[in-house]
Amino acid sequence: MGGALVIDGQAVAARLRAGVAAAAAVLHDRHAITPGLAVVIVGEDPASSIYVRNKGRASIAAGLASFEYRLPAEATEAELVALIERLNADERVDGILVQLPLPAAIDPQCAIGAIDPQKDVDGFHPLNVGRLWSRLPNLVPCTPQGCMMLLRTVHDDLCGLEAVILGRSQIVGRPLAALLVAADCTVTVAHSKSRDPQAICRRADILVVASGRPAMVKADWIKRGATVIDVGINRVTRPDGTTHLAGDVDFAAARAVAGAITPVPGGVGPMTIACLLRNTVIAACRRRGLPDPDLG
Ligand code: NAP
Repeated sequence: MGGALVIDGQAVAARLRAGVAAAAAVLHDRHAITPGLAVVIVGEDPASSIYVRNKGRASIAAGLASFEYRLPAEATEAELVALIERLNADERVDGILVQLPLPAAIDPQCAIGAIDPQKDVDGFHPLNVGRLWSRLPNLVPCTPQGCMMLLRTVHDDLCGLEAVILGRSQIVGRPLAALLVAADCTVTVAHSKSRDPQAICRRADILVVASGRPAMVKADWIKRGATVIDVGINRVTRPDGTTHLAGDVDFAAARAVAGAITPVPGGVGPMTIACLLRNTVIAACRRRGLPDPDLG
């Protein structure tokens, strides 16, 4: 075991949730506004159902209104878009989240594109993606936003650091690249077609792993002293048939080499939900022309 600082995502997320709750209370008392988050789930995917339930509970705990809409797995794209359009017009709803993945018959880009960009609390609408890369105010995707907050607990200044992101998905790798470039890092995005990802990762002062491959990144992929953010959430079956959650980094080995590292669970995961609540309160303010809330 090495001495890497283990970054406590639970604690950072708890502070952010408390800031959101305080801001929601101010909105309620001063403006009679209760920010509302609507989550849409299509089909019966068990993991998605757990995520949606957790989002609902976290919303209510922070003093937000929570709305859940379930469509059957065989729902059509047109039915989903019609529901999203209803939510776009619903004054109680400030944030709309369509839980991914969607059934194969529905194009996720079609669903995301139907969301009012002002209510797009996931930050996946093409307009918000463009605003992110253009460095204009926008709703920032939650998981990358959470990664940046965790990085800032370790680094006061990210300027000039060599950052490597393993994974180029629309929801993690790409938006995180925009945020790290904006923070003056030198950014490399590696993916399944990259030659020698191990050598690329070893260059990193900041290594963010979002490959969806359990324990893919071993100790000898990590530069000594690097900060490692493990985005992965994988349910892994042990030989005795029981299951546990594992990240995309071999945590036990990596902490001997890294300077700081996030655990799984308890690292990025709690930040994603806290940032979703944050985005909902921000959306509630911006839609009404109010200044962004003070989130502590
Ligand atoms: P994804 O869409 O499956 O993307 C995975 C990325 O990793 C792709 O860009 C892929 O490359 C790359 N990759 C896969 N195998 C690789 C390999 N052997 N070598 C190099 N690159 C490889 O996954 P995602 O949605 O971004 O999620 C990634 C992980 O984060 C998953 O474990 C997911 O459960 C987790 N996650 C966690 C949170 C959270 O809140 N903590 C939120 C979202 C996701 P190609 O593009 O070439 O295919």
